[in-house]
Amino acid sequence: MYKLLSLKFGVCNKIIVSKAYPLLYTHTRKMSSFDKLFSKIDELKPTFINRLAKAVEIPAVSSDESLRPMVVKKAEFLLEQLEANGFTDIQRKELGTQPPPVNDENLQLPPVILSRYGNDPAKKTVLVYGHYDVQPASIEDGWESEPFKLVINEEKQLLRARGATDDTGPLTGWINVIQAHREAGIELPVNLITCFEGMEESGSLGLDALIAREATQYFKDVDAVCISDNYWLGAKKPCLTYGLRGCNYYQITINGPAADLHSGIFGGVIAEPMIDLVQVMGTLADSKGNILIKGIEEMVAPITDKESKSYDNIDFSLEDIEAASGSKTSLYQKKEDILMHRWRYPSLSIHGVEGAFSGQGAKTVIPAKVSGKFSIRTVPDIDSDKLTNLVVEHCNKAFKNLGSPNTCVAELIHDGNYWLSDPYNSSFSAAAKATKAVYGVEPDLTREGGSIPITLTFQDELKTSVMLLPMGRGDDGAHSINEKLDISNFMKGMKLMAAYLHYYAESPEK
Ligand SMILES: [Zn+2]
Repeated sequence: MYKLLSLKFGVCNKIIVSKAYPLLYTHTRKMSSFDKLFSKIDELKPTFINRLAKAVEIPAVSSDESLRPMVVKKAEFLLEQLEANGFTDIQRKELGTQPPPVNDENLQLPPVILSRYGNDPAKKTVLVYGHYDVQPASIEDGWESEPFKLVINEEKQLLRARGATDDTGPLTGWINVIQAHREAGIELPVNLITCFEGMEESGSLGLDALIAREATQYFKDVDAVCISDNYWLGAKKPCLTYGLRGCNYYQITINGPAADLHSGIFGGVIAEPMIDLVQVMGTLADSKGNILIKGIEEMVAPITDKESKSYDNIDFSLEDIEAASGSKTSLYQKKEDILMHRWRYPSLSIHGVEGAFSGQGAKTVIPAKVSGKFSIRTVPDIDSDKLTNLVVEHCNKAFKNLGSPNTCVAELIHDGNYWLSDPYNSSFSAAAKATKAVYGVEPDLTREGGSIPITLTFQDELKTSVMLLPMGRGDDGAHSINEKLDISNFMKGMKLMAAYLHYYAESPEK
């Protein structure tokens, strides 16, 4: 839907068209408005760091049932912060009890916090998502300092605590951006809606249903969704993320004798399930990274010239993958090949075998029943159902060729679709301009090899564009020890968020 360019708010939107250099003039006006906003953000730095310190102090570990009251406490802290900063229609959405497996059957899921800033039908509406729960952390894991206490390291210019980068830093960043607008006396050019959840690190239980319910209620006017919950590819260059791979998880179960047997008595006499399984699994992929299941390659979307060129400037190298994997075992040497195989081609990984002997020593058991686990990371335009048919057919055929008297069942355990957005749409273009304004460079357009299922849920349920706008760096140690957020990423990240909202407000289409 086309929305008229709104010209009435603030200095930044007062576009005076000069015939000779209209764009330059607009640009200059905007920069001067950003100056005011950005210096307010700089001025409020101690307040923002203090807010982050208070937030990360609450050990909101969603996977630890005993800490659930802390997750709720952090939600309450955020409710106060929203209230204090002028957000309205603040709603604490309860999601009911946590489904099994749980120790406490009555364990309540932490609430999702919805709130608005502004409700002007003439403005576009941006929904920002963040999560306030965190991964577990304990000083015994090897942290340099108490993980739930913010350390401000002036020398290295970083903030260290669990949640600093994932995702408390970015989440509070959105609240800070509003505070900066209010204190600078600059009107927010969009309506902002927050959706903050407390179960992201534990599968976002209950969130899909909430988004579906609110799609026509609280979220009905949303024009774009912005998620700040990922990282730069490396440590130097900002990026915008427009794609994620999906994941189809499979298992092949081979059933043989009624119970585990002794190889001294039965070896050579009965058909062994494990021997069948390794042969079937051996037909899935080769050691060069190729998937050997027929029909999958044909479903992969071809590379366009535009996409091909988009890899040229990306700040990444073979050394990065070697450093990240701690080895020299990369299947590819060229940057483009590594990135494409991580982002835009499917991959098959074999994860393990259930029911087989896996301990130390030399046990002579013949396992009676074994299940091999593997998954395929999916990409456009792989159809999940078609893929499953191909996988099951392939496994059945490979097993049949063995002529074994055992039985074999290949099945899908779970699937989650890939996500791909248009990195040149109005939301991404606004974020690219914002990156240029804040960091002085064009952002890398990146995809990720993993999955953030909620991204696709937002896109499908709200029928809007979704963008991943990272604040932190690839080496922040999210989910690891000594999680940090560089102070410059925190400060510039908030300026980026603010500038994005302004540029997006001005874009002619949604
Ligand atoms: Zn996260």
